[in-house]
Amino acid sequence: MYNALQKKEAPKVDPAPAPSAKDTGKKNGLKSMSYGDQKVALKPKAGQQGGLSPAEIQAAIKYNNKRGYSVAEIKKFQKEVGTTADGVIGPNTIKAIAKFQAANGLSEDGKIGPKTEKALNAAIAQGQKPDKPKPDKPKPDKPLESGQLTAHFSLSEFKSKDGAKTPQSVIPNLKELAENLEVLRAAVGGKSITINSGYRSPAHNAAVGGAKNSQHVQGRAADIVVSGMTPSQVKAKIEQLINQGKMKQGGIGKYSSFIHYDTRGYAARW
Ligand SMILES: [Zn+2]
Repeated sequence: MYNALQKKEAPKVDPAPAPSAKDTGKKNGLKSMSYGDQKVALKPKAGQQGGLSPAEIQAAIKYNNKRGYSVAEIKKFQKEVGTTADGVIGPNTIKAIAKFQAANGLSEDGKIGPKTEKALNAAIAQGQKPDKPKPDKPKPDKPLESGQLTAHFSLSEFKSKDGAKTPQSVIPNLKELAENLEVLRAAVGGKSITINSGYRSPAHNAAVGGAKNSQHVQGRAADIVVSGMTPSQVKAKIEQLINQGKMKQGGIGKYSSFIHYDTRGYAARW
């Protein structure tokens, strides 16, 4: 999964944790231009650059704990703001949240109030959406022949079992499929996902009795096993992620030993 903060072309907050000597005494005044970020530079803020006072940090911890977030939610937030996802809100989490707030035009108090919560959830959802444009990394004109589709899925894992070459025309579909499987993988804590069947050549599809217009032939389907999870559990998780808008709507077929998932774009269940 991409870190939404990194996706924004430049973090609006300088990573330097503490103001430099020349900023001393300007705590609540105008920030100097030395960080080179005009947006931050011209806006007076209560706690600059994550430079909250110990009392402010303690107040933020207290506030956030009162909000009643589950450990899972806290971990999700921590992951998003780039701090250790231990599920416990401590000073480091508060500082990271303050930076996230700065980057999102929110007041940098480290408190996860309704606005910050909304921005965090939006950033998390955005980071998990498969089709996010990547302006700083233009796609190569030539689709890859082998190698990685995404961080945890390689093209070879989706290869037709009869050994047929994967046509370039289906590679974008396989990439989209793999990106959705990455979302699933992350949502189940990084459990490994085995692809029993990915792309099927028309010949192989016919040989295994697949439907003529099978999503497998288009490179949009994968029959998967998630280690340590039953097909029912995997199906429920995919369903949940689709409902949350994190995975693409498509087909889910439950079989005794695996789940078929495809990215056809409309709901099909069997
Ligand atoms: Zn299938």
